Amino acid sequence: MKIKFLGAIEDVTGSMTLVENNNQKFLIDSGMYQGVLHIVKKNVRPLAFDPHEIKAIVLTHGHLDHSGYIPRLVKLGFRGDIFCTRETMKLARIVMTDSARILEENEHHPLHAFYGPEDILKATSFFKVKPLKEEFDLAGLKIHFQSAGHILGASSVVVKQEEKQGEKTIVFSGDLGRANDPLMFPPDDCPPADVLMMESTYGGTIRKGDIEQELIQFLKKIKNESRIGIIASFAVARSQLLITLISEHYKAHPEDRVRFVIDGPMMLEANKVYVEYAHETKLPEELKQALRFVETLQHQREWESLQKKDGPLIILSSSGMVAGGRIWRHLENWQDDDTAVLFLPGYQSEGTPGRALSMGRREIQDEEGKRIKWRGEVMTSSAFSSHADQNELLAWLKNVPKESTIYLNHGEPEAKEAFREKLTAMGWKHVKVPHVLTEVEI
Ligand SMILES: [Zn+2]
Repeated sequence: MKIKFLGAIEDVTGSMTLVENNNQKFLIDSGMYQGVLHIVKKNVRPLAFDPHEIKAIVLTHGHLDHSGYIPRLVKLGFRGDIFCTRETMKLARIVMTDSARILEENEHHPLHAFYGPEDILKATSFFKVKPLKEEFDLAGLKIHFQSAGHILGASSVVVKQEEKQGEKTIVFSGDLGRANDPLMFPPDDCPPADVLMMESTYGGTIRKGDIEQELIQFLKKIKNESRIGIIASFAVARSQLLITLISEHYKAHPEDRVRFVIDGPMMLEANKVYVEYAHETKLPEELKQALRFVETLQHQREWESLQKKDGPLIILSSSGMVAGGRIWRHLENWQDDDTAVLFLPGYQSEGTPGRALSMGRREIQDEEGKRIKWRGEVMTSSAFSSHADQNELLAWLKNVPKESTIYLNHGEPEAKEAFREKLTAMGWKHVKVPHVLTEVEI
């Protein structure tokens, strides 16, 4: 069996790994590179394979950086199966559709016409839903999903390979969730894998701070000082958590309540999936209530009436790293209001406007090149994340033997290096940091 690392190697977007066994090829994830222009342009790099010869895509979860390249592969001739959980299929369809709409509508986008709605339609017909733990055959291997926490439907991929010497277990972690996320249950522990491909987004970080406290601090500031608050949030998972926590806080503390509006077509679609599968979360009733009764901006006239408003007012919009999306119209509208507060609850990857803002820069540029100067305040919170931190990653590994080989991906170089050092210090003998196009034989 051969494994080739294609994406999310030097960074945290563009997840894609090629697996070859019995002369058959399949991919684990097919994600888009996201962020700033030079990262987005990585999407147009020549492929390391012919899409016609890919038998299947095994999809860990619905985020764009794991699923967003699927329609491109379809456009280029991929006709295989796409294996994933039902929740992932629903979220991926929303995410891909939104991406196609942005790429089609926007002539100045660097990936204009990269794919369109017809490719999403075709991709949709290739999905093969697999519940967690249900084994299926692919390229002579036995495969099943196990829960990865992270977001609704997110899974790790467990691959069993029969060999003369016995069975080998190869695991692809996907994005791993947290041990005590307010909404999602913790990931299933990694089985005793022989070989492991593991994400390391927070491999170098032990997360500090308390999600609810940091959010409450923001909510109180907006109310008490009558300010405009804009929250930059990922449309899938983070938004649903924020809406639920905000709604719960307002229920418990009506004195803090201000007008709260969400703006994002994809967010609305994702809300529906979260309502449908609320029973898989820790807060099913709270989530359903919060998502059903939140005020939304759906029509131009609603946006026009909001534009002239003074605080207190809170708007939740995406994208989470401020790289583009609806949030830009709010940032443009209130950029000269030095009392406005931009709240960045989440990972801000290198090179994104969100990272620049969190580092103190105020002049930012979106992925199409539009610029603004933000004169207001910026609040960051690293407590919010749907990724495991270093301690949680280590806890997930507790059944993995010290002789196993661990390849670290999905992390910035410093995070991977810090995690490699930590794992080595704890006794794992074969921890490796692959490069793009590194191929390993298992
Ligand atoms: Zn993810």
